[in-house]
Amino acid sequence: MWSDSILDTIGNTPLVRLQTLGRDLPCTVLAKVEFFNPGGSVKDRIGMAMIEDAEAKGELKPGGTIIEGTSGNTGAGLAIAAIAKGYQCIFTTTDKQSPEKVDVLRALGAEVIVCPTNVAPDDPRSYYSVAKRLSTEIPNSFYPNQYDHPANTEAHYRTTGPELWDQTDGRITHFIAGAGTGGTISGTTKYLKEQKPSVKAIGVDPYGSVYAEYWRTGEFKESEIYPYLTEGVGEDILAGNMDFSLVDDYVQVDDKTSMRMTRRLAREEGLFVGQSCGMAVAGALDWLRAHEGELTEEDVVVILLPDSGFRYLSKTYDDEWMRRNGFLEEPDTLTLEDVLA
Ligand code: PMP
Repeated sequence: MWSDSILDTIGNTPLVRLQTLGRDLPCTVLAKVEFFNPGGSVKDRIGMAMIEDAEAKGELKPGGTIIEGTSGNTGAGLAIAAIAKGYQCIFTTTDKQSPEKVDVLRALGAEVIVCPTNVAPDDPRSYYSVAKRLSTEIPNSFYPNQYDHPANTEAHYRTTGPELWDQTDGRITHFIAGAGTGGTISGTTKYLKEQKPSVKAIGVDPYGSVYAEYWRTGEFKESEIYPYLTEGVGEDILAGNMDFSLVDDYVQVDDKTSMRMTRRLAREEGLFVGQSCGMAVAGALDWLRAHEGELTEEDVVVILLPDSGFRYLSKTYDDEWMRRNGFLEEPDTLTLEDVLA
């Protein structure tokens, strides 16, 4: 048995029950583990979808160049699909993203332009603006714009949602995820609610992003925007793919809690995952504990874990980086020197 192309191995990722975290709760808590995708993240699901849509509309022609702003994971998904289809890739990203992500994009043959993080989205130096400008200046280029491209949400409606429905045999009651473009939470939830309207979607947002407050008040508040370190989730814009009407509740998590939970997932569950996974699990456990009285053993909760720990070895999994950012007070591993002292 073999796959015809690496692209055929995207999706159908495992759903794994958490063994220790959340075992105090009456419900079943499951993790959808997206690092099993060939590009290492949930965003592989949207790369091919956006490219094929562009081909069908004549926006992308043979030998063309794909230009996208990405925190890294969408770039990997696009790059894998571009290789199969013979396109070039140029990605813009920000200096906030881990060097491992830029290395992955370059390893997959893409050109990467690193832009400053802490500038307004409409600043000409922002990674949104640079991607947009390059796409107008480079001939035969295509700018997918994952924030607004409907194929992003549709890919999750077509794959992630049905997978969760089938894997839980229709027993899923809660879907919990962070959001960047919003494609994952919007597409998956739309499908699940169509099957069973009682399914609840809970969004998890990092402090420093506008989403949670926008969901609560309907107002875009500049005061909510400040720098944070958790990568790939939360926004300083309202992405077209983020459908707030599908979300039933929102929780917020700070960087320290997200980073520490990421490490606990590795050490206590053997789930070597990325920062936004720690954020999603920390937010999920907070929400579930606050609603424990309403939960029964019939409830089946799924938390989506977007990517792999390999992308954060120089950050969340590095003690020195954790201490420098105030996320780790004490060294939590003993060195040989400590033992011999
Ligand atoms: N986590 C990580 C690490 C990501 O890269 C992304 C994509 N930006 C997300 C979560 C959020 O996914 P979505 O864009 O579908 O909301």
